[in-house]
Amino acid sequence: MKLLLVLPRNERGFWGKVSKTGKTGFVRLNLPTIAALTPMEWDVEILDARARPVDYNAPVDIVGITGFTAEMPSAYEIADNFRKRGVKVVMGGVHVSALPDEALAHADAVVIGEAEQVWHKALEDFKKGELKPRYKAPGLCGMEGMAVPRRDLLDRRMYVSGFNTIQATRGCPFNCDYCAVTAFFGKEFRTRPVAEVIDEIKGFDTRNFFFVDDNMAGRPAYAKELFRALEPLKRTWGSQASITMAKDQEFLDLYARSGGRYVFIGFESLSQKNLEKMHKGWNSAKGYKEAIEKIHAAGINILGSFVFGLDEDDKTVFRNTFDFIMETGLAAAQFHILTPLPGTVTYGVLEKEGRIIDRDWAKYHTGEVVFQPKGMSVEDLQNGYYWIFRNTYAIKNIAKRCFKSPKGLAYRIAMNVAYRKKAMRMPEVKGGF
Ligand code: SF4
Repeated sequence: MKLLLVLPRNERGFWGKVSKTGKTGFVRLNLPTIAALTPMEWDVEILDARARPVDYNAPVDIVGITGFTAEMPSAYEIADNFRKRGVKVVMGGVHVSALPDEALAHADAVVIGEAEQVWHKALEDFKKGELKPRYKAPGLCGMEGMAVPRRDLLDRRMYVSGFNTIQATRGCPFNCDYCAVTAFFGKEFRTRPVAEVIDEIKGFDTRNFFFVDDNMAGRPAYAKELFRALEPLKRTWGSQASITMAKDQEFLDLYARSGGRYVFIGFESLSQKNLEKMHKGWNSAKGYKEAIEKIHAAGINILGSFVFGLDEDDKTVFRNTFDFIMETGLAAAQFHILTPLPGTVTYGVLEKEGRIIDRDWAKYHTGEVVFQPKGMSVEDLQNGYYWIFRNTYAIKNIAKRCFKSPKGLAYRIAMNVAYRKKAMRMPEVKGGF
């Protein structure tokens, strides 16, 4: 029996795209993990619809699709086309778990929650001709003996550097309003046995890899054990982590010694009021500079993430954030327009306040305004986003930041080149902010 797993596309966004030369960024582990959970008797193919056209006449028995909210219009179109030909479609993922009824208008079945505990059952039912509409995970799965993603099913040529990604933990101890991590993965922070993580890393075909974990600092004692085991492997890596990592000097030292060259940190806002309103008040805006200095002193580059359009933001947020990035010498920065993703607290609040102005999911890639901001116009929010992106990645500003950060010039230059390509595709804003 043949299972086709499809990664849909989003033409509007700036993230996760495939370049003209057919290259893309990091491997998402969702479909390779589903493939690994599928019994060996199945013939499994992963189709990246961002890079290759979908052949609706291909001889497949069942199709599985998952994607981000912004990819849902593409996912639904692909699902509809297969179903017109009588092929059964199963959908899953964060968006589908938040809005299963919406997805069921396009799919024969949906997986709600983590697939690990229900995927086998869905496939068994399909084989018996008894596929049910909903397969809801009874709870969160343990991380011992987790399936190792089938990277062998991916097109290796599409990935210059982000091919080897790995997950050591699931969840996050925090619960920021705009983030779907805790809604989907639960409040419980789960960890994988260190030995299993190390075994998987030993199988990588490159020295570099990336932890896709949402918060590597979620349980510092676990992370330190992992870093100690990593050190002898002499690899280099990056991860996401909360700024709380800066409070723990031993964590920072072990992170760097074990090969951690960069960290992706969600600063989100320089306004403490904004942070508190989004339940991220444990991020201390006034402590940011000191925390950055400590992380830099440990030899770790920082890729900062900022969100615009929060209730306390007015037009000055763009200039202030830009000045902060330049002053602190962040290696790179990523910007997002606040986006009410289904399943998040932000979605519920903006919905209740009647402030969602656009429901085209294709625009929910965090680069387009889909809600009515409080402190500025929709146009200012959109233009400010373009302005700060282009300005941060102007050649002269890249140079200033790159030479301010700690060692690891190659990482900083590579990151900036990649972001500059995205930034220069955005419209130029006359007048500035
Ligand atoms: S700290 Fe990061 S991963 Fe955790 S809930 Fe907040 S935004 Fe999400």
